[in-house]
Amino acid sequence: MSAQNTVAELPAGIEQYQMLIGGQWRSAADGARFDSINPYNGAPWATAPTATESDIDDAVTAARHAFQAGPWAASTPVQRATLLRKFGDLITEHADELARVQVLENGKLIREVASQSRALANHCYFFAGVAESPQGETLAISVPNMQAFTVREPIGVVAAITPWNSPLALLMWKLCPALAAGNTVVIKPSEVTPISTLVLARLARDAGFPDGVINVVTGAGSVGAYLAAHPGVDKIAFTGSTAVGKKIAATAAQRLARVSLELGGKSPNIIFPDADLPNAVNGVIAGIFAATGQTCMAGSRVLVHRDIHDKFAAALVERTEKIKLGNPLDPATEMGTVASQAQLEKVLHYIDVAKTEGAYLATGGSRPTDPELSDGLFVQPTVFTRVTNDMRIAREEVFGPVAVIMAFDDEQDALSIANETPYGLAAGVWTRDIARAHRMARGLRAGTVWINNYRKTSHVAPFGGFNESGLGRENGFHAIDEYTETKTVWIDTGNEISDPFNPRA
Ligand code: NAD
Repeated sequence: MSAQNTVAELPAGIEQYQMLIGGQWRSAADGARFDSINPYNGAPWATAPTATESDIDDAVTAARHAFQAGPWAASTPVQRATLLRKFGDLITEHADELARVQVLENGKLIREVASQSRALANHCYFFAGVAESPQGETLAISVPNMQAFTVREPIGVVAAITPWNSPLALLMWKLCPALAAGNTVVIKPSEVTPISTLVLARLARDAGFPDGVINVVTGAGSVGAYLAAHPGVDKIAFTGSTAVGKKIAATAAQRLARVSLELGGKSPNIIFPDADLPNAVNGVIAGIFAATGQTCMAGSRVLVHRDIHDKFAAALVERTEKIKLGNPLDPATEMGTVASQAQLEKVLHYIDVAKTEGAYLATGGSRPTDPELSDGLFVQPTVFTRVTNDMRIAREEVFGPVAVIMAFDDEQDALSIANETPYGLAAGVWTRDIARAHRMARGLRAGTVWINNYRKTSHVAPFGGFNESGLGRENGFHAIDEYTETKTVWIDTGNEISDPFNPRA
């Protein structure tokens, strides 16, 4: 029995998963496969096909066909909403399986991913409602006997290219609005986390989406590059690094394909002296050490008012040193591994860079010595002080458990340090002063600002970046804009064309 037909238990051995192309579960045309490695024990636990160019061509052709003909092309908003709701129900039913597979793939904590998996269904239910909601406008045209209105139409074939850190949540941010609007989709998950997307695709099949509406091709960056450049793809929805995002934008520009980009960050988490400091310490920990720092919105730059700098840094270091590393499937574990060997090397490299630049290593800075953790890709939670905003460790995304603390003098100083970055994804502010909270929220150049919290997201809250953190917004009502074209329809109910060379006559 294929992996896609089994539902409940994970296999004991290495299971071979298949891609979904035009409603068929398929191996690669040449049979090539790659391993999914569990970062906690270094062992392969599943394999996925390495898509060839002809497999990708087939997936795009299937998506194009489903978009142009058949039940999906003729589908009504109510029919699409019904499928999305069924999909949401199946996700809820299989939330534990979806959570466990993600932990095996990327080492994220079951403690976080269990609730995240249950929340995935909310995206289906919300965008089912959006599909059924009014989409166009009646325009106030000031010409007698003339009416005009707008309609929203799907763009066509969407390529959804996703990263490994939250493979399903970030996919749902794209998939649900794309489907609600009537597009078809070819998904290319990260090569680090292909299996969770294949499991999710199985649930979408079971929900009853017609053949070709949802396709999945698996493989490395070259598969994503070929898909992004494919002339049959009308829109690319990408989440990943800023470096790859820029390549995708350049590729899309060649044919003016639509593109939305959710990219990297180097987000500030700003602590004022009037904050609830124990709560702010927890908020900083949540910002940078949850998910082992592997989140785009990681609060990696901790800006602390000079009056409380030493006290706050000491409290943060004390709590950081108590973080319990361990098996990500154990609910007591507070921080798991990084997701891949390449990521481990990158994080350790940046720790060396920070030391070379003269930052002071306040805690962490290497791999843990506990023999029980020796097989896993662990890095100690790390805090640097004496950091300035011109250092690479303050400017470049590490994507790992490394916080840098910088001192500031007043609101303006905090804003100039916070905004002096190529990025602009998110920011946190910790203060009990409501007026200051508002001033800071408006002054920060970032797509999301949290006051007295950090790292909250919701299917109803638009998410995206300023500057090099991206283009476009996911989630909330805005997301549907990224998956529709607006068409204006004019209807003349009785005017004569008196001057064919003057449209205003
Ligand atoms: P990545 O850019 O290396 O890869 C992302 C995806 O793109 C993967 O599927 C990869 O195979 C594919 N890819 C790689 N090269 C490609 C190319 N030339 N053309 C097309 N596709 C290509 O990113 P990653 O390492 O998987 O993820 C980490 C990055 O993602 C971080 O920078 C992080 O900040 C960012 N991220 C952003 C958000 C957000 O919402 N803004 C969320 C999560 C992660």
